[in-house]
Amino acid sequence: MIQMACFRHLRRRFTISPCLILLFGCFWIVDCSRSVNHVSHQQRRPSITPINRDLYHTSDTLMKEVIKLVKRHQDRFHVGSVPFPFSHFFPIYRICLFDSLTFQQIETFTSSNKGYKADLNVVTYCQNITDIKDSSKLRILLSFGQHARELITSEVALKMLYILSEEQTLPKRNPVLLNRTLQNLIIKVVPIENLNGRAKVEAGEICERRNGRGVDLNRNWSVDWGKKEKDYDPKEENPGSGPFSEPESQMMRKLSRSFNPHIWVNVHSGMEALFMPYDHKNTTPPGEQSEKMKLMLETLNHLHCDDRCAVGSGGKSVGYLAHGTTTDYMFEVAKIPVSFTFEIYGDEKAAWQDCFKMFNPVDRPTFDRVVNEWSAALLSMFEMGLHEMKFVKEMAPVNVDNLISIDDYLKGYLIERKNRYGEKTELLEIGLQEMRTYFRLFLLSSILLMFMFCSRIPKSTRTVLPPVTP
Ligand SMILES: [Zn+2]
Repeated sequence: MIQMACFRHLRRRFTISPCLILLFGCFWIVDCSRSVNHVSHQQRRPSITPINRDLYHTSDTLMKEVIKLVKRHQDRFHVGSVPFPFSHFFPIYRICLFDSLTFQQIETFTSSNKGYKADLNVVTYCQNITDIKDSSKLRILLSFGQHARELITSEVALKMLYILSEEQTLPKRNPVLLNRTLQNLIIKVVPIENLNGRAKVEAGEICERRNGRGVDLNRNWSVDWGKKEKDYDPKEENPGSGPFSEPESQMMRKLSRSFNPHIWVNVHSGMEALFMPYDHKNTTPPGEQSEKMKLMLETLNHLHCDDRCAVGSGGKSVGYLAHGTTTDYMFEVAKIPVSFTFEIYGDEKAAWQDCFKMFNPVDRPTFDRVVNEWSAALLSMFEMGLHEMKFVKEMAPVNVDNLISIDDYLKGYLIERKNRYGEKTELLEIGLQEMRTYFRLFLLSSILLMFMFCSRIPKSTRTVLPPVTP
């Protein structure tokens, strides 16, 4: 009995032990798999590079530095708020800070739409301010920071302004030649086009490229507006409720129409490329003008990009079509003879969430190289533009209409208008497209109704013959 009892006891011990071992084993496996998951999760989620404040200004400090720079190069200032005679829907104001003796002027435009307000700072460079209306000079409009996360572009803008002020120079640049070039130019610089979007990036939304209310300012223009590709992502390319629905785009359009530049450059980052129209088509425009633009870009690629940059139409070279872009509008509608988009830097190896690293240099040597090289590229473009000035001016629109307002903008949509002389004042496509669609629907339904009506008439008017009796 004792033996039996011992045996039972032993059996109980041995039946419990395997259970315990199994239980521990399960815990161990679960724990191991957890730690493996944790490691692989960490491996999948790359570290996000923060904005390097040793290299990059905040938008506030950058603009303050620009204003100080402008002030240092002026003997006296006039600051005022001048309301523009714009629409009641979108009042735009500007504050001027300028000097009548020297060369730089800064203006701040303000516009709002449905409670959304935006500012636009514009610096004007002209060696002698009395020449600011001199039509013999080459007019150049440069915009930086249209996409919020592309901080490096605004650093190039600041560098450009330093070079124009002659406080800073570039290596291997002949100052005499540069001065001779600058004498013949009027340059307007928008250092940060998308101030509200930039504020979001600085507040931690590092991947934001759109404006303060989620609209991509480089899809908000009227050429081929609103068309969506298969891979359309509203977080990236939201075109807005209509062409020019955004105050920033309206102010840029107003600026381009009043200044009527010969050369337009929209400076971006994300890759290394020199783009010309079209963004919404797979081709470049036909003709000599297009050939000259392409030659300029190829020269810039060779001089400043070590032939690394993609060159050609945005639509073909970037690998996807973009609709409603600024450069397509500047070329197609504003008729700016030389219209470009420069993509000045991109880190293709960066993880897609690591936006600061993807769009901006993160170390000092690369930062300096990009800022210096692309400032130099812009100066080279000025020289080439002057060299081709005769041709460029011939291609530019003859009539400079400085007084065109944007009061034709109504409730977020644009409608096509002609003035009493039959001249088109604005291309307002979306309203017309909708009208055409409704008209077609109306026509179709009318035809259907007519058909139904006609098919019923013979039935009712048909004479009924009496049945034939056998
Ligand atoms: Zn961009």
